[in-house]
Amino acid sequence: MTQCRHEPQVLRAAADDSWTGALRQHLLECEDCAAAASVEAWMTEMARVEPRQHALPDPSVVWLKAQLLRQMAAADRASRPITIFQLVAYAVVAGGWAALVTWKWSALVEWVGSWTPMHLVVTASGHSTPPSPAFFVGMLLLSTMTAVLALHTILAED
Ligand SMILES: [Zn+2]
Repeated sequence: MTQCRHEPQVLRAAADDSWTGALRQHLLECEDCAAAASVEAWMTEMARVEPRQHALPDPSVVWLKAQLLRQMAAADRASRPITIFQLVAYAVVAGGWAALVTWKWSALVEWVGSWTPMHLVVTASGHSTPPSPAFFVGMLLLSTMTAVLALHTILAED
């Protein structure tokens, strides 16, 4: 690749903004000089920056970072199925609670209402019907699942 004979003049003109009419005209005709003029400012800036700012980090640090990043990526990959399982479990437990409460809402409201002393006096015979045993089994099951999930979540964060 041969250098255009005007290029040194073009670079000098670009550096100290000393453009002549002939040089400007040449830029329109010569792609090489136009490119050289357009990158001149950047090249000058690069040359002015202190080399110490461009010092590369210690290779052992770079190597260590790469190892850490690789291990983190591997850990992420390994824990992905667990994370998905956890999300599914959250959804199941939340859905279970919603279904259970919806299913026995009126019985639940009545039963909780029966806890007030006033109600106890009114229904002195105490024939208020608590929700069915199936409800309590479902509640116990969901409570256990919720507790296990919460524990798992807490332990997984460490
Ligand atoms: Zn040229």
